[in-house]
Amino acid sequence: MDKILRIDMGAEGGPKFKTTPPGDYAGMGGRALTSAIVSKEVPPLCHPLGADNKLVIAPGLLSGTTAAMSGRMSVGCKSPLTGGIKESNAGGQGSQVLARLGYAAIVLEGKPADGKLYKVTINKDGVQVSPDDSLKMLGNYDLVDKMKAEFGDKITTISIGQAGEMKMASASIAFSDMEMRPTRHAGRGGVGAVMGSKGVKVIVLDDTGMKMRPPKDPEKFKEANKKWVAGLKKHPVTGEGLPAYGTNVLTNVINEAGAYPTKNFMWGRFDGCSKISGETQAETENARGGKGSATHGCHRGCVIRCSGTYYDKDGHYMTKQPEYETVWAHGGNCGIDDLDAIAMLDRLDDDFGLDTIEMGATIAVAMEAGVAKFGDAEAAISLVKEVGQGTPLGRILGNGAEVTGKVFGVERVPIVKGQAMPAYDPRGVQGIGVTYATSTMGADHTAGYAVATNILGVGGNVDPLSSEGQVELSRNLQIATAAVDSTGMCLFIAFAVLDQPETFQALIDMINAFYGLELTGDDVTALGKSVLSNERDFNARAGFTAKQDRLPEYFLKEKLPPHDVTFTVKDEDLDQVFNW
Ligand code: SF4
Repeated sequence: MDKILRIDMGAEGGPKFKTTPPGDYAGMGGRALTSAIVSKEVPPLCHPLGADNKLVIAPGLLSGTTAAMSGRMSVGCKSPLTGGIKESNAGGQGSQVLARLGYAAIVLEGKPADGKLYKVTINKDGVQVSPDDSLKMLGNYDLVDKMKAEFGDKITTISIGQAGEMKMASASIAFSDMEMRPTRHAGRGGVGAVMGSKGVKVIVLDDTGMKMRPPKDPEKFKEANKKWVAGLKKHPVTGEGLPAYGTNVLTNVINEAGAYPTKNFMWGRFDGCSKISGETQAETENARGGKGSATHGCHRGCVIRCSGTYYDKDGHYMTKQPEYETVWAHGGNCGIDDLDAIAMLDRLDDDFGLDTIEMGATIAVAMEAGVAKFGDAEAAISLVKEVGQGTPLGRILGNGAEVTGKVFGVERVPIVKGQAMPAYDPRGVQGIGVTYATSTMGADHTAGYAVATNILGVGGNVDPLSSEGQVELSRNLQIATAAVDSTGMCLFIAFAVLDQPETFQALIDMINAFYGLELTGDDVTALGKSVLSNERDFNARAGFTAKQDRLPEYFLKEKLPPHDVTFTVKDEDLDQVFNW
């Protein structure tokens, strides 16, 4: 990964590209790299869909190696949804493949003046950027099939659907998985709209003829990787819970805790929960598909394998196993308890290229406004179809919960910095409320997953219903997450790393053996802090103040049943999260 590919989509006479050495960005990967480039090179006050914004796509420090779990890709830009800096990351094959091709990052710059749609191909022989208007308004599934027909079945794709082309603020970027399906998405913050604004429909990667990245010290690297895998297999969450039921194992757990946001965050428990739980989902998938339901990786080298495949009643492929967040967003949050309908919504989101969290939260806001009834699965499906078709209502919904709330005059809109909250009510899990409020990303559970300690007892125990200890918890998790997101590791490793010091050490040993470094745990903390500082600095220059680090006021006033709690962490304490 010794070069950065920069493609100027607005160059005179058509797109031009060049590869440059990493320069100031040497030694960075993943989120550290995307946030450094965006923070340094993007004017914070620019229009997110304008020529001055940049879309940065970067594998992690260990991507393209034999290190288990190292295939997450980071995508960074100024977000059309939040107006601040964005790092959204995804699984799929892209990260390993791009790293093996030798690229530390792809940077899409400028904006084409010709209104054409482009495809970019990258392989061992180089780069090609070519216009291809036959791709216009294709869904991600048809697009990937077309690319397979053109380039063969050894490729990996990074693409946008109709939502990205229409530059909707909920638009995602799809990364193809091991079966070459566009099921893994950098979902949050409207990154797909930025790719659409650059006029790039798809990036086709082919690493045929390229080798695995070699470590500086192969023996030590192999040894550390062995301990790493053993540590992940030993932990009950990464070794048992996630492989058996996928992320949807959380539905029963969070519902039982009374923190499962139901019908647009009105209640903390959903009475249809057992019909959409991970246990029911796994049973349904196993009965219909027979194999490959759970224990399936989203990229080569995943050993946790939290993913799976969802088949319809006749045994035909429908979508990948919907994640907990998706099942919640399109399920409990909309009062829907029908797994087949949720799977259909997941499929539509993946095809149109939409963030499932933002879409589910938006439909729930629309339901509160009376556009459809809570629990009406057919109505939810037709609303998402309207988004894909770009009808006037679809364009409103496709721009997210905040826009939809404004258009329909809804007060209860669960957002921070314009981005919809995920599947944990901040009143029932106060630590995640601190993360939602203060994260540089807007409401984002992955930015500092306090649910681990508040509910799951991982990394200690902090009472989820009390304000005590939540600021420190969220701070430490946000720092650790920023560092993990820079390695290319899937965030689910955090369960084992937080509980097992020797597994954390194995991760550091792998980085050291690969790069010939002598990093310590303190260096990892320093990396996390520097990433967050870069992001905070960008947001401050974009006009964000402490006012943006707050939850909507109804979370402070309206009690959440069954525990009848409000969010009680004080504003002055929220302002201490980044005071280290
Ligand atoms: S644990 Fe799940 S999300 Fe993480 S890399 Fe594996 S399949 Fe993908």
